[in-house]
Amino acid sequence: MKSFTACEICNKHEAEEQCEGCGRALCRQCRQMEIWGSGAEDLTIRYLCPACKEDPDINPWGAYDKVLEAGEAKQRVIRAA
Ligand SMILES: [Zn+2]
Ligand SMILES: [Zn+2]
Repeated sequence: MKSFTACEICNKHEAEEQCEGCGRALCRQCRQMEIWGSGAEDLTIRYLCPACKEDPDINPWGAYDKVLEAGEAKQRVIRAA
């Protein structure tokens, strides 16, 4: 019999990846793909659960993008006022 590891986020689908941050099993629907790297030649694809994707300690690249977006949004509001 084929062993079945359920996704630890939704508990419905079969897990295919493991979260790089907390090690929880993730299915295709729940995994969040992040591309980490310092340049075009140095890229690593990592899978994170939704909670770790939002955690800047675990996902510094994703958190950095978010800070930039928030800063830009604020500037637009100031210009419009
Ligand atoms: Zn899932
Ligand atoms: Zn995680």
